[in-house]
Amino acid sequence: MGEYPIASHCPQCGSASYTRVRVKQGLAFTDDRKCKDCGTRYTPPTPTWAAVIFIVLGCFLMGGSVVGTVAMVRAELRVPGLFSYVHGIPPAVALMTGLACFIYGIRSLKKREEKCVGAMLKQSGKVPR
Ligand SMILES: [Zn+2]
Repeated sequence: MGEYPIASHCPQCGSASYTRVRVKQGLAFTDDRKCKDCGTRYTPPTPTWAAVIFIVLGCFLMGGSVVGTVAMVRAELRVPGLFSYVHGIPPAVALMTGLACFIYGIRSLKKREEKCVGAMLKQSGKVPR
């Protein structure tokens, strides 16, 4: 994430026609776009609702992981030998996935904000170009 400029239209020429380009990174909401007119590659902004879903999903996964781990540890303390280290893998995976979703969602929201602030500054003529 963050290799290409975030824009809904071509940041170079303003054209709205594009071809889809597959994103190589693992976690991305949509394909990147490549301008049909000038060939500039850019990333469409992640919708706010999608970013919020990522954050909620991330919290859910991380919360589930913690609750599951606590439940396992408590059961293990009561009945030793019930679980082995293998049972620790799903919560660990859930925790990592949840964290990745959470960070992705937060970053998407932050980028939107930066973009909005940048656009506002540009409109008011405070950014020299
Ligand atoms: Zn273009």
